[in-house]
Amino acid sequence: MNKTLNDIKELINNADCILIGAGSGLSTAAGIDYRGEEFKKEFAPFIKKYGFTDLYSSSFYNYPTQEEYWGAWAKHIYFANTGRNGTELYKKIFDLVKNKEYFVITTNVDDQFYKTGFDKDKIFRVQGSYALNQCSKGCHNRLYSNVELVNNMLDSIDDDLKVPTELVPICPVCGESMEPNLRKDGYFIQDDVWYKQNDKYEKFLDENKNKNVLLLEFGVGFNTPGIIRFPFEQMTSQNENWKLIRFNKEDMTFLELDDRFIGIKEDINKFFRV
Ligand SMILES: [Zn+2]
Repeated sequence: MNKTLNDIKELINNADCILIGAGSGLSTAAGIDYRGEEFKKEFAPFIKKYGFTDLYSSSFYNYPTQEEYWGAWAKHIYFANTGRNGTELYKKIFDLVKNKEYFVITTNVDDQFYKTGFDKDKIFRVQGSYALNQCSKGCHNRLYSNVELVNNMLDSIDDDLKVPTELVPICPVCGESMEPNLRKDGYFIQDDVWYKQNDKYEKFLDENKNKNVLLLEFGVGFNTPGIIRFPFEQMTSQNENWKLIRFNKEDMTFLELDDRFIGIKEDINKFFRV
């Protein structure tokens, strides 16, 4: 039988605690669309100059200069993260769990959980953040907010989509270029906060293994299934008091199926009546 929002609320109320796992499908549903109309409109000059068709593939574009790299990345970072407030969908999810014990693990780098009321001590942001810069060679273990830098870049970008050379950030330790803190190669920086939140996640799993845990998995596909999707299934299999609700429009397969595995294919926005 299809579950309704009221069924989900009841499951949340009856659980001892909630574990949320979120992937890109949640942010797409929330309106941060990497290929839709807003992208095409906002990025029109970039699409014309570089020919990319969506924001994700633009990440791998080989820009000829740092001034062009940062012109495109400043726009990208602002579009997906620093220029956005918390979205209604994430706020609805927060309202559902805010009075429960909960923890969030996410591969999303748009920081929506931080913008919609979730306790930052209860968020493990595994793959980094658009709003932080790191040394491109990973020479030291520190991250730098780029919020103000991105605003300045967008204020001064020229018609050729370049930022002024004096705004191009340079690593203060080794002098190499900087880049957003995103896991795309072996130089990804995991700073002290990353390790602290990783420990908290492990502790949450360990402390609650014998309790009634409800896992809410939102929009997690097969890009990096080893971080959330597969562990969520395995942990639910191994803990008979755990239940997993998978929200996914496209990839609704389970390794095994019994009544503790619940799939919801409906659009997440519609389901939560955003
Ligand atoms: Zn460096």
